[in-house]
Amino acid sequence: MKPRDLSAHVAYEAGRGIEEVARDLGVDPAALTKLASNENPHGTSPAAVEAIQETAPGVSSYPKAAHADLRDALADRWDCDASQVWLANGGDGALDYLARAMLDPGDTVLVPDPGFAYYGMSARYHHGAVETYDLERPDLPLTAETVLADYDGERIVYLTSPHNPTGGTFSPDAIERVADETDDETLVLVDEAYGEYADVDSVRGLLDDRDDVAILRTFSKAYGLAGVRLGYALVPGDWADAYARVNTPFAASELACRAGLAALEDDAHVEKSVATARWAREYMREEIDAPVWPSEGNFVLVDVSGTRGPESARTVADEMQRAGVIIRDCTSFGLPGCVRVTCGTEAGTREAVETLNEVLET
Ligand SMILES: *Cc1c(COP(=O)(O)O)cnc(C)c1O
Repeated sequence: MKPRDLSAHVAYEAGRGIEEVARDLGVDPAALTKLASNENPHGTSPAAVEAIQETAPGVSSYPKAAHADLRDALADRWDCDASQVWLANGGDGALDYLARAMLDPGDTVLVPDPGFAYYGMSARYHHGAVETYDLERPDLPLTAETVLADYDGERIVYLTSPHNPTGGTFSPDAIERVADETDDETLVLVDEAYGEYADVDSVRGLLDDRDDVAILRTFSKAYGLAGVRLGYALVPGDWADAYARVNTPFAASELACRAGLAALEDDAHVEKSVATARWAREYMREEIDAPVWPSEGNFVLVDVSGTRGPESARTVADEMQRAGVIIRDCTSFGLPGCVRVTCGTEAGTREAVETLNEVLET
């Protein structure tokens, strides 16, 4: 026997891991700078590390209290009911819960192109079909018009703000307009995975007056906890109870919940991370010798197509890697000719810019 027909399912292409690349190149991982997956260059909050260490001896028990405590802490932070916080195994896990809760077989979702691949993957796992709204180069505009032009009654519309991989944002007005002008039965899912870094505010306020907007947040980026897998959705009060029906039991692990609780208290770590990213994205925009889109995330998108034609992004990424800096070829995002560079530490960012400019020059 075989699995069901999975030909429409495309595997997620993650940025390459540092050990993997080090092994390929035969070098020490410490010699590499990894700026391919929008991870926090300052690492994990020390408070979260301590919490994980303290929790380790007790992981023979299911995570009950920790799960409840973290939902309460997040509800407090966002000024909503704990039932509106859908904790999950990463933001990706929360995307799955929303698809499970919303989609009947054959329902269609609307995703950005270029955009984050997991929206479509998650919808397909849940027997949904996928349509796209197109962000046109060169501006890649994130406007209500762009989305509504391609909207045709889909059940979920995904808005990424700040957008990965372009770094742009939707204005809160644009998001509200999309919610207003789509059907009552369409959920507008605002992915704020990079919300901490943005100049625009969260659209959390929309949840008070409407039942057709949900928000995605994660501990993977500004909180530096990508490895423990922890994220959540904030959902309208009216249908918050669906969580109990769709979540995989103990949706977030004990280690993840305890780390998350500690990280939430460590404002200094988040502030430092955000400050470095804000500096780094401006520095890269000014210093890279190729067009760089403005970014409100912890990364920038760079157009390297000017140098060597359609294969340029892969070649540039490969050459950067040989020189010790791992960045992301954006071809799989639907942006041939572009690379994405994560904001590093100050030293890492300077190294990345210098290396990239050398590669672009040759
Ligand atoms: C990183 C990211 C997420 C969530 O990632 P998790 O590690 O699963 O929390 C969601 N959306 C976008 C656009 C991202 O870049």
